[in-house]
Amino acid sequence: MMIGTLFIFSAPSGAGKTSLVNALLKTMPYIGVSVSHTTRTPRPGEDNGIAYHFVNVDEFQQMIGEGAFLEHAQVFDNFYGTSQRWVESELAEGRDVILEIDWQGAQQVRKLMPEAVSVFIAPPSISALRQRLQGRGQDDAATINRRMRDAQSEMSHYGEYDYLIINDDFNNTLEELCAIVIARRHRIEAQQARHADTLTALLQGDTHA
Ligand code: GDP
Ligand code: ADP
Ligand code: 5GP
Repeated sequence: MMIGTLFIFSAPSGAGKTSLVNALLKTMPYIGVSVSHTTRTPRPGEDNGIAYHFVNVDEFQQMIGEGAFLEHAQVFDNFYGTSQRWVESELAEGRDVILEIDWQGAQQVRKLMPEAVSVFIAPPSISALRQRLQGRGQDDAATINRRMRDAQSEMSHYGEYDYLIINDDFNNTLEELCAIVIARRHRIEAQQARHADTLTALLQGDTHA
């Protein structure tokens, strides 16, 4: 049976994680992204169930009590969590799954699933990070300042990840991210499961010779 690969992507808010993941999904439609639960207020254009499952604090606490989360953490002033059921069923079906989660969630997932592949995405500079948060135009000044303050603590954990990418030129970064995902998909164990029949036939040799 084939087990999918779990990818963890972390970045300080505004580094470009969500834009990169959306672009990656266009070229690799067979990968799924986990839709987190959050107590944060939806941004304009963020539909419930697409960007996030938006819940209130009571609902979030109830889900913690039910053991519904693979990981959960407080990020800024809000709670975020990854639904365990969806992720585990996707992996069991042999599909790859991306988690866009913070460093605290990444630590929890690594403990549970040491085979997960983790990628840290950093901005090219502090000033670029601020410009991107401002350019996105979806957070007020206080929220942006809060996210800039928390960026340092997120970035201090980059060394815990398997891969580090600097998101300077968007298309270069996308290529680098795709390279990591593609390389992981071609590991021997994954390819053996995916191409079992082809490999068996190849090893039988030429029956017409
Ligand atoms: P954005 O990254 O600027 O788009 O801001 P978000 O509000 O979408 O995400 C805020 C933070 O929460 C980021 O550091 C995310 O990595 C983190 N985050 C989002 N979903 C989850 C989750 O399910 N679990 C955990 N642990 N962190 C999450
Ligand atoms: P995150 O999900 O990490 O918070 P986003 O994907 O929302 O980040 O990106 C934040 C903003 O920066 C968006 O407006 C996005 O278009 C922009 N952006 C992302 N990557 C780059 C890049 N390489 N160069 C310039 N702007 C970028
Ligand atoms: P935003 O609220 O701007 O969408 O996300 C802010 C931060 O929360 C991002 O850095 C994002 O990675 C993190 N985040 C989003 N969903 C989750 C989640 O399910 N778990 C954890 N641990 N962090 C999350």
